[in-house]
Amino acid sequence: MTSEPLKPLILIVDDTPTNIQILAENLIKDYRVKVAASGENALRIVAQQELPDLILLDVMMPDIDGYEVCRRLKNNPQTHAIPIIFVTALNEVANEEFGLNLGAMDYITKPFYLPVVKARIRNHIRLKQLTDTLESMAWIDGLTGIPNRRRFDQMLEIEWKRAQRNQLPLAVIMVDIDHFKAYNDCHGHGEGDVCLKQVATMFAATVNRPGDLVARYGGEEFVILMPETDTDGAQQLADHLRHQIESMQIPHTSSSASCWVTISLGYAALIPKPEQASSTLLDDADNMLYQAKNLGRNRAFGYCLG
Ligand code: GH3
Ligand code: MG
Ligand code: MG
Repeated sequence: MTSEPLKPLILIVDDTPTNIQILAENLIKDYRVKVAASGENALRIVAQQELPDLILLDVMMPDIDGYEVCRRLKNNPQTHAIPIIFVTALNEVANEEFGLNLGAMDYITKPFYLPVVKARIRNHIRLKQLTDTLESMAWIDGLTGIPNRRRFDQMLEIEWKRAQRNQLPLAVIMVDIDHFKAYNDCHGHGEGDVCLKQVATMFAATVNRPGDLVARYGGEEFVILMPETDTDGAQQLADHLRHQIESMQIPHTSSSASCWVTISLGYAALIPKPEQASSTLLDDADNMLYQAKNLGRNRAFGYCLG
């Protein structure tokens, strides 16, 4: 069974029901449509539900007006990329300039000429989809298909700040394949690439708690980011990952650690202090990895409790 890709999602924000109705009726065939009757409601929908691919935003609304909604969405890193089209009866050039300077994509004045409105929406949606594709390619590792270091760095900063705000623990596991240079030398670089893909796929399948992130950190190193996880949780996952990779029984003929491909892991978890930098956590996990290597490889090592 093949599932149809979801239609793009458009959020229409307008305090006049007839305006919403005209737009919604004309868009419902090609798009999924959500509506909000106030600025406040629009901000709530965007914050709590699936991010829309486009917002049609009325300017004049009683509580929070369209300009303010736009300003708030553009100031929030989670929502700043959503294209916004202002829909308004104000057709003065000064208003249009003001709206576009707030970061809106386009400006449509009422009364609408629907074929033009639909064509503009289609163009903006296409552009958004293209941007989404390029953006996701920019943070996916080409060989393994899992997130790359750039994505990890971005998520680490987001989760670090969240953990700092909420005073919750954040954990990181650094992983390095044992004697991988020797693996390449014995089995060939092509087989080395195949091995990296297999290991990455196993990591991605094993780490499946929402919010966790597995990324290729570089070469034969991987990293796992675990929000709201303490040292015990990190240790459990690290041990499990080590076991999973060894159980794949990928032959490695020149490793001192095992006759199979194995990994060493270093883990660390902490509740970030104010002003503390996220590099502390990475450095800690990296030091633990170093210890795991020194202790003979094919093991997970982290902070010792008690
Ligand atoms: P250790 O157990 O101490 O980690 O030893 P090691 O040989 O794994 O570590 P070292 O850092 O000396 O070597 C890493 C090797 O990983 C060397 C490099 O050629 C290989 N490597 C890095 N990226 C890739 C890749 O994309 N494909 C392949 N096939 N090999 C890679
Ligand atoms: Mg290495
Ligand atoms: Mg290595």
